[in-house]
Amino acid sequence: AAKAREQRLSLTDVLAKAMGHYRDQLKRSDRAIAYLKKRGLTGTIAARFGLGYAPPGSHALASAYARYDDPQLVEAGLVIHKQETGEEERRYDRFRDRIMFPIRNPKGEVIGFGGRILDSGEPKYLNSPETPVFVKGRELYGLYEARQAMRERGHVLVTEGYMDVVALAQLGVPNAVATLGTACTADHIAKLMRFTDAVVFSFDGDTAGRRAASRALEAVLPHASDTRSFRFLFLPPEHDPDSFIRAEGREAFERCIAEAIPLSAQLMAVAAADCDLATPEGRSRMLAQARPLFEQLPDGLLQAQMLNELAQRGGLSVEVLAGHWQRPVPGKR
Ligand code: ATP
Ligand code: MN
Ligand code: MN
Ligand code: MN
Repeated sequence: AAKAREQRLSLTDVLAKAMGHYRDQLKRSDRAIAYLKKRGLTGTIAARFGLGYAPPGSHALASAYARYDDPQLVEAGLVIHKQETGEEERRYDRFRDRIMFPIRNPKGEVIGFGGRILDSGEPKYLNSPETPVFVKGRELYGLYEARQAMRERGHVLVTEGYMDVVALAQLGVPNAVATLGTACTADHIAKLMRFTDAVVFSFDGDTAGRRAASRALEAVLPHASDTRSFRFLFLPPEHDPDSFIRAEGREAFERCIAEAIPLSAQLMAVAAADCDLATPEGRSRMLAQARPLFEQLPDGLLQAQMLNELAQRGGLSVEVLAGHWQRPVPGKR
């Protein structure tokens, strides 16, 4: 354990050094600064999130470290080492000509980066690979920066993108985090529950965002309880939180937060997808789609409420539904 900790400390030091390097490079690049300005970002917010710029060269990081062939640069995910070729160009910078978003753990240590291409090109975002300090599906971008605001506001906003977090913070909504281009997992939720007991999911209005919302529903069901709140905010299809708050302003966005639908309604909506509740067939189909979701809810009052609600919408008595699902009827032994 002591050895692991030693390695961990030095890897985050290596990454912190890279952050400093990328920040210096940003100051020198008119093109990168112009891009951030075009996205509406101020220098203050860029500094708060430690944004930087990885210049185009293949060995730009060589100027930041004593040894470019230090295996730790590879281990940290900053340098790619191609072992099969026998030529000199075997090591090169992973991030080239990208805006750099440092990803920090809750202690504030740099554990990885997301890099956005300046104009168009593929991939639009490049993330650090998995390393001993960066496990995907567990980290959330902006958690460190948002930790105070989450507590003060009593909830966290979970978004999809780096730009969403930074734009929201700049425009007065500092309690947002983002999953790192992955689905929201139960691990993410467990991590957030250390800071707050209320989550508002604010995904993009597009099809991908809607799909992300149904996956998030699956991740939160096991964490649902009578004292926690999970809600879902749906933006117009053409918007994500960044574009919406810039176009409509903070008050409009806060109204969306206030109107976000609760977990129970989202469960209903997912269950009732493609169901005509006016017919027995549609109601049965809705109940069949609801069952695997319902069964992930922990025992408790919320579960009992949902059983009641599903029975009502499904056109059955709660006794009949509970009998079919082999559940105790709420209020009876
Ligand atoms: P921008 O506003 O800069 O165009 P965005 O955050 O709105 O970016 P989306 O296309 O909505 O971009 O994607 C949401 C998030 O998914 C991104 O912030 C990023 O974390 C992740 N992502 C997007 N494209 C990729 C990709 N090609 N590889 C890895 N992750 C990606
Ligand atoms: Mn999107
Ligand atoms: Mn966007
Ligand atoms: Mn987006």
